Amino acid sequence: MAKSVFGVIGLGVMGSNLSHNIIKNGFSLSVYNRAVEGEAHLVTDFLNEDKTEDSVFGTTQLEEFVASLERPRKIFIMIKAGSAIDYLIDQLLPLLSENDIVIDGGNSYYEDTNRRKTYLEKKGISYIGCGVSGGALGALNGPSLMVGGTHGAYNEVKVILESIAAKDKDNEPCCALLGPEGSGHFIKMIHNGIEYVEMQLLAELYALLSTQYSNNQIASIFSEWNESELNSYLLDITAQILTKKENGTYIIDSILDKAGNKGTGSWSSKVAFDLGSVNTMMASAVFARYISSFKTQREILSEQISTKREVEELNLETLKSAYKFARIINHYQGFEILRQASKAYNWSLNLSEIARVWTNGCIIRSVFMEQSIDLLNDGQSYLDHKSVINLLHKFEVDIKDILGTGLKVRISLSAFHSAYDYWIAMTTKRLPANLIQAQRDYFGAHTYQKIGHSYDEFFHTNWETI
Ligand code: NDP
Repeated sequence: MAKSVFGVIGLGVMGSNLSHNIIKNGFSLSVYNRAVEGEAHLVTDFLNEDKTEDSVFGTTQLEEFVASLERPRKIFIMIKAGSAIDYLIDQLLPLLSENDIVIDGGNSYYEDTNRRKTYLEKKGISYIGCGVSGGALGALNGPSLMVGGTHGAYNEVKVILESIAAKDKDNEPCCALLGPEGSGHFIKMIHNGIEYVEMQLLAELYALLSTQYSNNQIASIFSEWNESELNSYLLDITAQILTKKENGTYIIDSILDKAGNKGTGSWSSKVAFDLGSVNTMMASAVFARYISSFKTQREILSEQISTKREVEELNLETLKSAYKFARIINHYQGFEILRQASKAYNWSLNLSEIARVWTNGCIIRSVFMEQSIDLLNDGQSYLDHKSVINLLHKFEVDIKDILGTGLKVRISLSAFHSAYDYWIAMTTKRLPANLIQAQRDYFGAHTYQKIGHSYDEFFHTNWETI
């Protein structure tokens, strides 16, 4: 059998769908999955599903897999992130040759990717960290691919990656070399952070709307919004979720209110702390999931609080404007983390190009993402546009109204609160940070700067002397 041009390791949800996509696009492929107990069937299942037998080779033997690939070998790893990748790399290394290319498509932490890249480069092997978004269907029909690596390595795999990727409105692939080393995984991590917030905002809207409307009615409201500039993949699927029934009852009503997570949201939040960037919305979305997981405690506490839910008439236009407001702040905070990382790590990220790669195939694709390509062009930020500032200012009254309603009806709207609070602080000329500085100087002699003096001058007061 002729050697394959590409290899995929890991036939889980993502790996098997990506593999079908690669074959569909006419590339010969070798697939490998480890033969641990209970999983040995994955390769035979895959081969049975795919009828193009002459262009696909499958095995549970790593050596056989590597030997089946054309050189330089191009291997796409799609397995669980973390130590499994290091273990696999160590198994692979003795089988590889100089100039081979290893691509990690999982949700690896970007610093791990930096480390693995350095490790493999020393052995003459190129390492690409590739963020993949779109879930199972995206992997099958066209994901959004965020690549971090060298130009040389990217050029070797570009044809395959760009063929399998989703296409933007100009039919360009939603796949690009966005920066070096771990930048692709960093960008994917922030993608997920933005996604956490978009999901949380919809969950908060659902909570508010549920006080007055049925699932079907909320779905209709969301579907109507989805016909406007608020159109997004997440809004679309949320409307669909709300109407889905099983045995005559809405599935949504039977789902336990405990949200899971796989860590990328908390990584995004931690990274913002490390970079001195601000992502109050991501942090609130992550914490909202954590709070939901304290189900038993919430049940016990809620029984001790007697509340009478006041009914508040919801204005749908107000709600819609507040939602627009919060989404702008979410995207602003997310892209600003990318800007800070780009500066800190010398990645030269093009935020407009990242927005373009996110316009199709990925979970956060939306009309606003399409608009973001222009808004972020030439290194601009959303808040460099007077039109955006005016819009946010105009919608202030709406978000304030919604937050007020949330307080009255006792519904937690932490992502909306974070958006509004951030906006107030960022548009406030004088914050009470002067008092923080004085307190720091009082107990720790940390010094402070003074109004009217150069930013380089620092002062200290002996506060305890009279
Ligand atoms: P699955 O759980 O469906 O599959 C995991 C794959 O990893 C399986 O092939 C599994 O093999 C393999 N694997 C797990 N542990 C090991 C190990 N120790 N050594 C070797 N192989 C191992 O996961 P997904 O396909 O959903 O996810 C794969 C990666 O893609 C993850 O990093 C995930 O975060 C990322 N991702 C997932 C998305 C999604 O929507 N699901 C979207 C974007 C990225 P085995 O069957 O033998 O256990």
